Amino acid sequence: MTKRPWSWVFLFAALLLTITAFWQARHQWTVLSRWTSVTGTLLRRDVPRNHDADGSLYFQMKAAFRYPVDGKERESSSMSYFGSTDFGWIAPRVLAYNLGSQYPIHYDPASPEVFEFGAGYNTLYFRTSLRYLWASAVCVLLGLLLRRLSQAPRRCVQCRRTVRSFFRYCPDCGESISPA
Ligand SMILES: [Zn+2]
Repeated sequence: MTKRPWSWVFLFAALLLTITAFWQARHQWTVLSRWTSVTGTLLRRDVPRNHDADGSLYFQMKAAFRYPVDGKERESSSMSYFGSTDFGWIAPRVLAYNLGSQYPIHYDPASPEVFEFGAGYNTLYFRTSLRYLWASAVCVLLGLLLRRLSQAPRRCVQCRRTVRSFFRYCPDCGESISPA
């Protein structure tokens, strides 16, 4: 019986994780829905050594693009939305960008020098949100599992013997068991 409150803890955690996933994605949705989408040419790419808030190394790709804004060409640079403390993780993702090639970018119409590359409905751009959704799914499964384990066993109405959920007749007294 003590498992039942725990199942609610897991289901509540799943709800919080789902809300967090959507909260985390709000910037991405703003970029994809409000910012102007154009094609830019990659001029330079680099992986500067930055430190995050706790002082450990955090790698992001820095890229300079040339792209048209209101008919005029503009040059600006931006850090990738993706990043990692693991250089081995980020290196192949940076190398996938070829100098001189064209890529879709999104710039902020209110300040066109602010832009993002790699924005789109892809797992890399929504990586943080997808992690929260994944954790939420695990919590839902654990919560439902605990709920199932905490259910009182079914009993035959006639002889009170515990019966399995798939039994149609009580093996002891033959009483028919109504489906749950
Ligand atoms: Zn029975």
